[in-house]
Amino acid sequence: MVVLLLFKAGWLTTGPGPKIRTWPTPSAVIAGFMLALTIGSVGASAQPATSENLTGTVACDDWRLFPDADFVRFSDTLESLDLCIAYEPFQAGGIEWRLLRLQRSPTIPPSAPLVVVLHDDEDAALAGALGLLALRDVQVVTLDANEQRLWNGVDPNRMFVAQGAVVSACPHLQHLDHRFAATLLRDWDGQSPVVSLHSNAPGYLGDGENGRGSISMLSLKPHQHAYPASLRAEPSEIDTRLSDPDNLIYITGPTPLPGEQQSALIPDLQARGLNVLYSRINPLSQDCSLSDFLTLAGQSALYFNIEVKEGDTAVALTMTRRLMRAIDQHIPATDRP
Ligand SMILES: [Zn+2]
Repeated sequence: MVVLLLFKAGWLTTGPGPKIRTWPTPSAVIAGFMLALTIGSVGASAQPATSENLTGTVACDDWRLFPDADFVRFSDTLESLDLCIAYEPFQAGGIEWRLLRLQRSPTIPPSAPLVVVLHDDEDAALAGALGLLALRDVQVVTLDANEQRLWNGVDPNRMFVAQGAVVSACPHLQHLDHRFAATLLRDWDGQSPVVSLHSNAPGYLGDGENGRGSISMLSLKPHQHAYPASLRAEPSEIDTRLSDPDNLIYITGPTPLPGEQQSALIPDLQARGLNVLYSRINPLSQDCSLSDFLTLAGQSALYFNIEVKEGDTAVALTMTRRLMRAIDQHIPATDRP
């Protein structure tokens, strides 16, 4: 009954245009059926950081209370993980964003890696993130956008901005708001890895095979360097599906070539059968993506963007697992300040 009410409440509404959230907090649902009857009157509120958050604890609820299409799709996985989900709508740039934090329990170590899935239409990316939750303590931050890439016409991966940044190459100037990055990265300690996951359409524009992708090992821009798995992969790690040019670990930095820590890690990633693509970020033409934002903040050595061919959830899981093993070896948690 409650679930039916929640469906009616608008969580799964479809169609273009701004949405009016009519979603109560799950805690309120648990509190009583009577409250569920008042769903339509519950308003949205931003969730500023609190001292509770700084201890690594989030107020989260059973995933079964969230009838999101993705959670229905991956219900077997969520069931096995017994996930705890915090729904935290917030305002930034004149838009109400629907943020979800996924954890195995309300409390995780402050040093837990932050895993980010920004595009709601990229199901393989979410599958990879769920795979990481199965492996270890992480917080997965994701945005509900009714299974679409854009929300209110805005790409969430063009919303990351720091005060004082040059934003002329950012497409959503009128929506830029530093609260967006602050809210998504709220529980990140600034010293642990950030893993962002995206699905990548096959091929690339202009490849002569009707490719649609925007990133590929075969389509380098002048400020990029490719480190293909095929050059160094251990024989036991070679996997042609994994090393498809559409599957890659995208890393960034402020310099023409990767930094010291990245340079030590890249051969290890290749040996594990993973392609690596490095991109130099120019502060004057940065695009307000998460990768550019963290690079400008001097944090690029901690940032890893998994690009997986759309629909290939098996490869997404393999990539996340192999990436985390390499990260553990090169950025051990015990060495983090
Ligand atoms: Zn994406």
